Amino acid sequence: MISEKLKPLVANNSTVRAMFEEGGKLKEKYGEENVFDFSIGNPNVPAPEEVKQAILDILEEEDSLFVHGYMNNAGYDDVRQTLAEQINKEKGTSYSGKNLIMTVGAGSSLNVALKTVINRGDEVLIFAPYFLEYNWYVDNYDGKVVPVDTKEDFTPDVDDLRKKISDRTKAVIINNPNNPTGVVYDEDVIKSIAEVMYEAQEKTGKEIYIISDEPYRELVYDGAKVPWIPDFYNNTMVGYSYSKTLSLPGERIGYLLIPDEADDAETLIEAATGANRISGCVNAPSLIQRVIKRCADCKADIDFYDRNRKALYNGLRDCGFECTLPKGAFYLWVRSPVEDEREFCKAAKKYNILMVPGRSFMGPGYVRLAYCVSEKTVRDSIDKFRKLAEEYGKQV
Ligand code: PLP
Repeated sequence: MISEKLKPLVANNSTVRAMFEEGGKLKEKYGEENVFDFSIGNPNVPAPEEVKQAILDILEEEDSLFVHGYMNNAGYDDVRQTLAEQINKEKGTSYSGKNLIMTVGAGSSLNVALKTVINRGDEVLIFAPYFLEYNWYVDNYDGKVVPVDTKEDFTPDVDDLRKKISDRTKAVIINNPNNPTGVVYDEDVIKSIAEVMYEAQEKTGKEIYIISDEPYRELVYDGAKVPWIPDFYNNTMVGYSYSKTLSLPGERIGYLLIPDEADDAETLIEAATGANRISGCVNAPSLIQRVIKRCADCKADIDFYDRNRKALYNGLRDCGFECTLPKGAFYLWVRSPVEDEREFCKAAKKYNILMVPGRSFMGPGYVRLAYCVSEKTVRDSIDKFRKLAEEYGKQV
């Protein structure tokens, strides 16, 4: 018999994953070009050419025993040092390799961060709507998720944060740019969160951590800036991933950064390194770590996502749907024309349009469209959306 904890996981298989699988079946049946699968954040941009070249060069140039061997559980020292220097260049910081733990993607960064600080019953506050895997991650360590409200524009409601922080609060997860809303929190928002958290730390006499989940950090548009949270709050751990920016989701590579400014940073780093080991990952995959070192300067193809962002947003607005132009990530958050957005998603399936109901992110009444698809998919979908809009009496 499976464990009690996993029973709900089996019973409610992730909607996003389920739709991804359904999309595959529809594509087989109707042909790829006739399915408009906006369900999952799997980048449609190929990984940069440098990644392929780096793999080939590493296999030719580096000692294979070294490349495929075990290493420090935190990752290769030279890789961590290179990435620390890269961050320093961009953020004006002074980290060294010891501040980074290479992880198996952002999912693993979050698990390592939570494992490092959560005791049974500790509360983790998260601004809703949010990436629902967080619930499972927090539950892995017997923590408890406390959703915090966002405002009408989906930026954090700091008054609600203040209300919900208690002496059981151990961490606040921030995801900026945000999945599913595409909102980017600016410096004022981060400052006001930090202020509330410093107050709470002072009141409770305990550390409360920000766990900053940043797989979309570089995916921003119209000059939007993503604040570097450790500049505003010392007890921050930053989770990063190359899944989205370098289109490497299957390679499972990212890092967790713990700044020296965090209270008792050395112990925290040591504990996180141990958490990485005993999670069973032992260390992040070795070959792709070495690739990331060589590709530290590679950038995401923002223009591609930007074109899709504008085309989908303008197309949907023209059809009469309500949505806000996202400032980051590659998701469009659209208000459902009917209260139960699952009905809207069901109606869309008639046109082979797949989108995810907002309640899969604790955001009922909305749907999420991942526009990391081909430009043709976006272009050809608009006609279908127009037909869908007609069903709801939208202006077309
Ligand atoms: N966090 C957020 C907000 C995400 O959207 C995702 C993936 O979609 C992840 C974490 C996990 O990313 P990774 O593939 O790096 O584990």
